[in-house]
Amino acid sequence: MNAQIPGQKPPEIKAQETADAAPIKAVSAVAALRLTVAFMLTVILAFLSVEGWRTWRDYHSAFNSARNSVTNLARATAQHAEDAIRQVDVLTAALGERVEGDGLRNIDVNRIHKLLVQQSRLMPQLHGLFIYGPDGQWIVTDKEVIPEPANNADRDYFQYHRTHTDRNVRIGKVVKSKSTDDLIIPISRRLNNPDGSFAGVLLGTIKVSYFVDYYGDFKIDDRGALVLALRDGTILVRRPFIKSVIGQSLASSEIFTRYLPVSSDGIAEVKAVVDGTERLYGYRALTTYPLVVETGLSRESIIAPWRWDLYKTGFVLSSVICAFTAFGLIVLNQLRQRMAIERELRLAHQTMRDMALTDSLTGLANRRRLDTALADEIRLAKRQNSSLSLIMIDVDYFKRYNDTYGHAAGDECLSMVASAISQALKRPGDLAVRYGGEEFSVLLPNTDLHGAQLVAQQIIETIRALAIEHANHPLGHVTASAGIAASRPAEHEVSAAMLINAADKMLYAAKQQGRDRYCSAAQPA
Ligand code: GH3
Ligand code: MG
Ligand code: MG
Repeated sequence: MNAQIPGQKPPEIKAQETADAAPIKAVSAVAALRLTVAFMLTVILAFLSVEGWRTWRDYHSAFNSARNSVTNLARATAQHAEDAIRQVDVLTAALGERVEGDGLRNIDVNRIHKLLVQQSRLMPQLHGLFIYGPDGQWIVTDKEVIPEPANNADRDYFQYHRTHTDRNVRIGKVVKSKSTDDLIIPISRRLNNPDGSFAGVLLGTIKVSYFVDYYGDFKIDDRGALVLALRDGTILVRRPFIKSVIGQSLASSEIFTRYLPVSSDGIAEVKAVVDGTERLYGYRALTTYPLVVETGLSRESIIAPWRWDLYKTGFVLSSVICAFTAFGLIVLNQLRQRMAIERELRLAHQTMRDMALTDSLTGLANRRRLDTALADEIRLAKRQNSSLSLIMIDVDYFKRYNDTYGHAAGDECLSMVASAISQALKRPGDLAVRYGGEEFSVLLPNTDLHGAQLVAQQIIETIRALAIEHANHPLGHVTASAGIAASRPAEHEVSAAMLINAADKMLYAAKQQGRDRYCSAAQPA
């Protein structure tokens, strides 16, 4: 086995430190990479959570303020409708009392007409005041001209009062006025004869346009809706005003079927039966009259500003995240590049260190390396009280070999000899060195004279076994001689130079004694 593989890491303390530092640096660079990625993800997540929470809060606050708006609107419109109708209610009650007191047949038509004109002027909502006889014939009105035929027996409210004895005011469905063609809401009550029999009908009519104008003043979105309906669901007024919608029934709508039976006022998010628009409605059933108001803001109008804000925030947030990610990627890339450069530098440093301590021809350690190793091993052997041996090896008649076969063949021969020396070494701690020219040395830590002799013998035999032809050699093949110096630094002070000199002397002796052998000294003097 090779004791020292060419390019192998030398067992030097300094070198060891450098080799250990490399993984530490690499680990910290990987940690920095991970930290950067974690930081980026944390920041992006933080951004998303904060904005997500803000968006969720804005969505709810948009609906909360819409809820307040529709509730307030419903309250205002309900109050308005109640006031308008109560005034007509009170007026017709007083008029009815008077007409019944006089007796319908005996009334002074001119005087009552003047009274009606006067009252009607006082109330802006009032379209007209009418008194009909038991057959539906117009008796008195605030109008100057009575249309022909002047009979309202066909009207729904007339037929109702003729057949019902209750004295309450009755609010009817919207009808078209016979006198003016306006759309009107009839507020009627029954007139009785002193004996309680049916005497006729007293009617006050309210202009639909009165409500339409009032509802028009509210600032709600284009798709919002304000509705005044009878308790049975029949629409009286609606904003936006569409003539065909007046008189339609809301009885099947969710507010009438689900919400009103449970509570007389509240909020409902439903789809309108009239136009299919999803709205948030405030609804309220009046307590004094069978009327219901509904005020709705379209879901779209509630969400639109929020959605626009979401788009803007989304755009800004994605831009920020993109910029941040791009910045992060640049940082990551630079970190990666730095790591790669550091790796290359470490490798280059290692290679240069190896080159500085290695012989290029044979791949063995060089003399510089031996100098350091020898000093280290002497110190170690001293501390551990162990033996240390050094073998100097010199190729025999090598000048002749060069002269015979040329320098290139000489180099090749030296390489083979170096391999043979490496092969002969068994311990990992043994160090084979090209000392210079055709001279080699072998440092054997923890090895006494006997051990060194065995190694030297093994080396000489291995070189001999190579059987490299050498025509100018008395033996005809390449051989080498060796000198051994064995020491015990703990017992006798020894230096590197002393050890080399001693081994060199023994090498000289081996040459003297006929080459292809070794000579040894136990302790260098
Ligand atoms: P001996 O050691 O047996 O006494 O005889 P020698 O001929 O080997 O001794 P000497 O030291 O006089 O000769 C050494 C020769 O080694 C000189 C030189 O031609 C040769 N030499 C030294 N270094 C190299 C080298 O790197 N390559 C080659 N090819 N030859 C070298
Ligand atoms: Mg020599
Ligand atoms: Mg020689």
